[in-house]
Amino acid sequence: MGNCMTDLVNKLSANNSLSKDEFSELLKFRNNETTEYLFEKALLVKEKFYGKSIYLRGIVELTNYCKNNCYYCGLRRDNIFIPRYRLDEKDLLGFCEAGYDRGVRSFMLVGGDDYNFTEAKVADFITMLKDKFSDCQIGLSLGQRSEKTYRKWFEAGAVRYELSHETAAENHFKKLHPPEMSLLTRKQSLWELKSIGYQVGTGFMVGSPYQMVADVVEDLLFLKQLDPQIVHIVPFMPTIHTRFEHERSGNGDMTLYLMAIARLMLPRAMITADTILDDVMQDGRKKSLEAGAGEINVELCTDDIKEYYNVYNKKIHLKNFTGDDVERIKKKVVDSGFEIGQDKGDYIPVPEEELLYGRIHRLMRPQF
Ligand code: SF4
Repeated sequence: MGNCMTDLVNKLSANNSLSKDEFSELLKFRNNETTEYLFEKALLVKEKFYGKSIYLRGIVELTNYCKNNCYYCGLRRDNIFIPRYRLDEKDLLGFCEAGYDRGVRSFMLVGGDDYNFTEAKVADFITMLKDKFSDCQIGLSLGQRSEKTYRKWFEAGAVRYELSHETAAENHFKKLHPPEMSLLTRKQSLWELKSIGYQVGTGFMVGSPYQMVADVVEDLLFLKQLDPQIVHIVPFMPTIHTRFEHERSGNGDMTLYLMAIARLMLPRAMITADTILDDVMQDGRKKSLEAGAGEINVELCTDDIKEYYNVYNKKIHLKNFTGDDVERIKKKVVDSGFEIGQDKGDYIPVPEEELLYGRIHRLMRPQF
């Protein structure tokens, strides 16, 4: 039995942040009592803004080419062991149609930093999807590009862009990435995306090699500073043919704990339950709903694609995988006492009392 850190959780909930030392304490002395209390608070906050709704995000892995060489990633340029692929228009449309038929209204096109997918080509993809699925949200996660390219894709209709910072601590970043990659430019890209008007998503890995508690605290403080609309926290997964293939995976419970902390720090954020959670713990995505997650990623690509999209080693999925069984996931969500969000989930809701407060505030403002 541990002591419940009620005061710290209450303070986090009231101020939406803590000092470095306080975050550190909350992480170092995690125990069942605190976790339970934290989840309870996180769930209440999530329900205040999103009610019982849980949104589905259909993930389409567009390409597994990448010009970068991140040490932990199966898609890294120098990995000669995976066959590479790029989806064409027809495949992309096919996967999205299958997702649409199963109720998915938000599509995320993800891939490595693949410059074969030029600014114009991706813009054409976005236009095509917007024409075909006018009631859907289009999001991208295609790595670091120029501000001009981000703007072009935004103007074409993409509303959401996710770029994980992976770790916000400079020294830790250097241990996971080759020298030509820079944390600073990644952070700059995130600020550019925000200024363009995207709903910006970022996140980090839990339990990656060399990670210390202080590094995770940096991650949390960076989240607070950036104030992203989407938070994507995933456990580290050792991937074959990388220098970290023999490391242990990140801890699923710790990942959920951090998702709940993120919920209290950024109450309106969309917090994502990634498919990889299911790889480190039984029903990981489902469990994350109790920790304040508001959306679930569902994979729309079929097994022939999934096998080669190896950012993390998804051993469980490699056999007989035919895309996520969306109906089964929907049932799990409903059986857990939640509802499937019926719209695209592309807005940040404001609760009734805040609307009322806004109206009173406007009425009381002096008129000139
Ligand atoms: S983590 Fe992203 S940028 Fe790095 S090698 Fe993998 S796909 Fe490329």
